[in-house]
Amino acid sequence: MKYNIKSIDDLSIEEVKHKRALIRVDFNVPIQNGKVINDLRIRSSISTINKLLELETKIILISHLGRPKGKRNPEFSLKPVYEELKKLLPKTNIYFIETIEELKNKSNQIQPKEIILFENIRFYEGEEKNDLEFAKQLAECGDFYVNDAFGSAHRAHASTEGVARFLKPAVAGYLIKKEIDYLSKAISNPEHPYIAIIGGAKISGKIDVIENLLKITDKLLIGGAMMFTFYRAMGYSTGKSLVEEDKIELAKHLLEKGKNKIILPVDCVVSNEFDPKIMKHGALKEVSFDSIPEDGIGLDIGSKTIEKFKQELQNAKLVVWNGPMGVFEIPETAKGTIEIAKYLAEITKKGCITIIGGGDSASAIEQAGLQNSVSHVSTGGGASLEFLEGKELPGIVILDKK
Ligand code: AMP
Repeated sequence: MKYNIKSIDDLSIEEVKHKRALIRVDFNVPIQNGKVINDLRIRSSISTINKLLELETKIILISHLGRPKGKRNPEFSLKPVYEELKKLLPKTNIYFIETIEELKNKSNQIQPKEIILFENIRFYEGEEKNDLEFAKQLAECGDFYVNDAFGSAHRAHASTEGVARFLKPAVAGYLIKKEIDYLSKAISNPEHPYIAIIGGAKISGKIDVIENLLKITDKLLIGGAMMFTFYRAMGYSTGKSLVEEDKIELAKHLLEKGKNKIILPVDCVVSNEFDPKIMKHGALKEVSFDSIPEDGIGLDIGSKTIEKFKQELQNAKLVVWNGPMGVFEIPETAKGTIEIAKYLAEITKKGCITIIGGGDSASAIEQAGLQNSVSHVSTGGGASLEFLEGKELPGIVILDKK
């Protein structure tokens, strides 16, 4: 798969100046008591917005927030995002528009260098259904389309895919461009040695990514709870650790396929107690992978594994990481994840390209304060996973090719 799509830099001045840019952004930010508590996703699209303001474009921003399921619900309003956006762009006129009818009118009235933020697009049923009539209505509100919502690019919705069928040019914003530039390095003609680190709770969500990465990487390091399903596949007992019983056969098959590639932890941190609802554990100790006690619950990779993984990683030219090494939400069992994050920062300094998948791995790298010390932290959990699986993302393949 090769994405060779146009970005806003490939548009001519005639195509943008005084024209209406319909931009799909990902402003799906956490909100508490009517306030945005983390504006990273808003800031991530500011360079695209600023570039188009510079080019005297009229801007219409479309985003979703949460899962209102096609119904208007004040809990999921983008109003708090509007307040935040005004703070980030204090010199720009920004209007908040709530209905598609109003949007059609207002998009014909705004001046160059002004912005409309449209209310949560998922208040409309047609969005998630990718209703083409709805997509056409959206397309009427712009003269060209920009997709900058990487986190939603794996979904074929009206504002991420349908609209781009009717509104041309349809190009990528800077955020999507950067995501593609980096993530492509991980799947087409990757540099070697190329090492993938896969962790997290379950194999089930990561089968396709493991299968695809086995084809292109030199080594695949496994951490997180999924290691226990692999141990079981090898015949070891894993105490009370999280195991997907119905995936043991599959784990056997993956081990067979990745015979010289899959590297499993050699030790782990166990507790005799763990309550995932309140994230509380009992006494912790480190044990070898072949002597997990009957009442032991594995919660992190052990120190010998951290050293082993570092050795494997030391000469890597390219590393992709998806999924934490343990229950990183609790400081005592975050060590494996944090130590690997720190080591990735170290090898990045030596010239290795380090790519962090979104979701929990991105949170972990932020928790360690290392988001600027690795090559790329993806803004999309599901989208980056599907990209690494080798799937085509509908919100990206629909964009104009170079
Ligand atoms: P995933 O969404 O599959 O990437 O899984 C992320 C979750 O896996 C995080 O919430 C971690 O707390 C959890 N996790 C990682 N290691 C373990 C483990 N050994 N036991 C239980 N949960 C784990």
